[in-house]
Amino acid sequence: MKLADRVNQVPPSGIRRFFELAEEKDDVISLGVGEPDFSAPWAARTAAIDSLERGKTSYTANRGRRDLRQAIADHVTRYDQSYDPDEEILVTTGASEAVDVAMRALVDPGDTVAVHQPSYISYAPGIIFAGGEPLAVPTRMENDFKLTYADLEASGAADADVLVLCYPNNPTGATMSRDDLTEVAEFAREHDLVVLADEIYAALTYDGDHTSIATLPGMRERTVVFNGFSKAYAMTGLRLGYALGPADAIGAMNRIHQYSMLSAPTTAQFAALEALRSCEGDVVEMRTQYNRRRRFVLSRFNEMGLDCFEAKGAFYAFPHCGGDDEAFAEALLQEQNVAVVPGRIFGEGGEGHLRVSYATGMNDLREALDRIETFVS
Ligand code: PMP
Repeated sequence: MKLADRVNQVPPSGIRRFFELAEEKDDVISLGVGEPDFSAPWAARTAAIDSLERGKTSYTANRGRRDLRQAIADHVTRYDQSYDPDEEILVTTGASEAVDVAMRALVDPGDTVAVHQPSYISYAPGIIFAGGEPLAVPTRMENDFKLTYADLEASGAADADVLVLCYPNNPTGATMSRDDLTEVAEFAREHDLVVLADEIYAALTYDGDHTSIATLPGMRERTVVFNGFSKAYAMTGLRLGYALGPADAIGAMNRIHQYSMLSAPTTAQFAALEALRSCEGDVVEMRTQYNRRRRFVLSRFNEMGLDCFEAKGAFYAFPHCGGDDEAFAEALLQEQNVAVVPGRIFGEGGEGHLRVSYATGMNDLREALDRIETFVS
């Protein structure tokens, strides 16, 4: 069959290719996938089951249930975000759908969308599917992988139309404080950039609270925020996320969403509502465990001589492997049955690094790090 050109412009996901290799082997410990090893909190699962028992199996409003949008509006006040549940919030099928509809609603063919690297791999395909052109903005380990004014200037982002910002960052675990964000906000205002801020790891920070760029002066009106339930509430398979932004942007995104998706999964909306109402304790518990594992992983890597940047958010370590990351990851998988992801998959600046997810139980983590140490020595 004849395929659309835009599909051919996007290579298959590098992460998937790697995991197909891992699946061919037995006894592999995977530190590769970016998803919690926990199940969704029991109260959230119960609410989903209960909604099914009550026969709540219809569509919801396009923008999502009103009570859920209200609960989201209340929840995000913890980040000093204030959004109107009727006009400024869209409930989506995962943050993934929010990324996709934002690109399609805000990017015109030929527009340039700057994306700092290394970063999550879905932005560039989303930009290309929308007809835009991705512009890579490399960040550096010397700057703790924070995005700087100088990085933006050096890569030509002054001529871009949109900037994607992902902090806490997948794959580096970098975070940005209010101070750090000030110069990025200044750049965005000076060059009239729309900012798409993917804050899906906002609840997973280990060194101070998350700051949203949308709360800096002059930024709310030019920013759309993505967040969701996959990471903080361990609900990846329920596929629920949301976007926050000015009414015109959210309205435009809903115009696409109402035709392509109708509404986000109803059962998951019940689970999400309960998660916001009563599962804060579960989030705190999971974060505590991630933090324990984070410290363990960082110190093990540094002990074995793989220089490791101190990740302060999400659930990834990003050690420097001192050579070809792809060859390292393949040999580690072949010889020691440990799967990690080569850093280069996440774009410029990722070469020579490995993405290691610590959303893995402590026993497996310990065993995997022993195996990596054997491999390295
Ligand atoms: N953004 C980032 C930075 C992610 O790491 C992920 C999941 N890997 C997503 C978005 C997609 O999340 P969701 O499950 O909500 O679609």
